Amino acid sequence: MRSHYEETWDLDVFFAGGSDSPQFAKHLQSIKKQLVQFEEEIENWKIPTTGQDTSLLGLLEEMQEISDNTGQAGAFVSCLQAQNSNDSKANELRGIVTTLQAKLDSIHTLFDEKLSAIEENVWLSLLERPDTQEIEFVLNEKRKQASEKLPKEQESLIHALSVDGYHGWGELYDTIVSKIKIPFEEKGEKTELSVGQAANKFSSPDPQVRQQIFTAWEKAWEQESDLLADTLNHLAGFRLSVYNQRKWDDFLKEALTYNRMSEETLNVMWEAISDHKQPFVDFLYRKAEILGVEQLSWQDLDAPIGKANKAYSYQEGADFILKHFSEFGDDLPRFTEKAFEERWIEAEDRPGKRPGGFCTSFPNSKQSRIFMTYSGTPGNVSTLAHELGHAFHSHVLEEVNPFNRDYAMNVAETASTFAEMIVADASVREAQNEDEKLALLEDKIQRSVALLMNIHARFLFETRFYEERKNGIVSKDRLNELMTEAQKEAYGDALKEYHPLFWGSKLHFFITDVPFYNFPYTFGYLFSLGIYAKALKEGKSYEKKYIALLQDTGSMTVEELAQKHLNVDLTKKDFWEQGIQLCIQDVKEFMHMTRKA
Ligand SMILES: [Zn+2]
Repeated sequence: MRSHYEETWDLDVFFAGGSDSPQFAKHLQSIKKQLVQFEEEIENWKIPTTGQDTSLLGLLEEMQEISDNTGQAGAFVSCLQAQNSNDSKANELRGIVTTLQAKLDSIHTLFDEKLSAIEENVWLSLLERPDTQEIEFVLNEKRKQASEKLPKEQESLIHALSVDGYHGWGELYDTIVSKIKIPFEEKGEKTELSVGQAANKFSSPDPQVRQQIFTAWEKAWEQESDLLADTLNHLAGFRLSVYNQRKWDDFLKEALTYNRMSEETLNVMWEAISDHKQPFVDFLYRKAEILGVEQLSWQDLDAPIGKANKAYSYQEGADFILKHFSEFGDDLPRFTEKAFEERWIEAEDRPGKRPGGFCTSFPNSKQSRIFMTYSGTPGNVSTLAHELGHAFHSHVLEEVNPFNRDYAMNVAETASTFAEMIVADASVREAQNEDEKLALLEDKIQRSVALLMNIHARFLFETRFYEERKNGIVSKDRLNELMTEAQKEAYGDALKEYHPLFWGSKLHFFITDVPFYNFPYTFGYLFSLGIYAKALKEGKSYEKKYIALLQDTGSMTVEELAQKHLNVDLTKKDFWEQGIQLCIQDVKEFMHMTRKA
């Protein structure tokens, strides 16, 4: 193993010279040209009338090439913007790439429309060709989705009106939130915090800080609640009107289609979760006991327990990850070592970087880049493992047909959660003392509580709200009521105080790109845990099966994926229960460790 990995990434292998790169300017120019030409070709494309027509294949190939080029450009700009938030040239480049992507999207719409116009018998014989057979699922999906929408003219009108309607409401939300200031007093000093800064205070070890921030937090959201309620109602109203026009009765349809899953699966998953709330309720009571209160309140949920102060140097973090990845196979550690050695990771702790972490892939180069700020906490090591999991997912997908690489949000976190679990479990096992072990374990359980309780509350609230919204505006008092009920149910009545204005404080209810931005998180977590449970049982030899599963994430429904690779039926509770059991194991260990606390 090499003794030192560099903490900055290499972007020059893609385009030399950063945001001033002449090579990149050229790349953008050539995409622009390609798009103009391609749009013309699609417009002039005569819809096939026989199965012998080969024009479809040529267009598909071209489409793939353009989308790889655009993806390469988008990834490069994301990296430039993240590594230096003052790079104004990079922001300009973002504008150009966004325009190119929008152009490509509109060509896609035109193409899908034409696909749906192909006669059924011609379509079936086109799919029999060996070169299309492989991408049959994706092609059928495109065609079906286009056919479920309104005629092209009406869809474009909706699209145009969405900019200042639907998406406008989402943007208004951001404006309202950016103006919110939350007063806070510490050691006699009064300050005003932004929403983001205030949210961080919920993980303070000091109960008075948490109480103070929660009171001010609820008050601040209450002050804006009229505006927030209007915004949420209109955003949802717009969405429902569009669904109504398309004759979609089920408001979950768009979200389910997007995630390639059935409603039955979704319902069974929540049922399994509801059946197993008790251990988490017990955990919440035990945590209350440790914090010296009878019942936890909303502001205590993220309070830390124990102390994890071991710091890992970047090299130690990397070695720790490599060591534990290798317990689960050979490909994952081999790939990871390459990523460290070839400088795929930007981890340096320096000012001027964007917060957060991500992984992005460069389709033309078959490489990924990982962005984060590494300061040596156990959380950083987990994040690094998480992002490496994403990179590994992209890596194994390079072997499949490019059309079969697009996976939905609910399986997007499969490889990352899997990698993160390996490292989080190993950290708990190798903790140096009880206090550290408890802290790491509690951190893991907090994640389960978030996914099995908090997200559950969001889902219960959102579905009930949409149901009522069908009949008209839902008042802010009613929104508060719906939220409190949802939280009580999801947290098994274990809290003393809830957060009724959560419907206003949580951005996810106002996101317009993807509807119902909640259940895919829980799905992804439990799906990944189910796979992790198998890997624990089968050991290193499981890796081949794991890779085969990842390679199919972009070309089938989640039910088919689970049936084929895990031999389980997602519409039955037992698969979900396996994942939940792993979470319960953590709780059991925590309860055991804190017995006499
Ligand atoms: Zn992720």
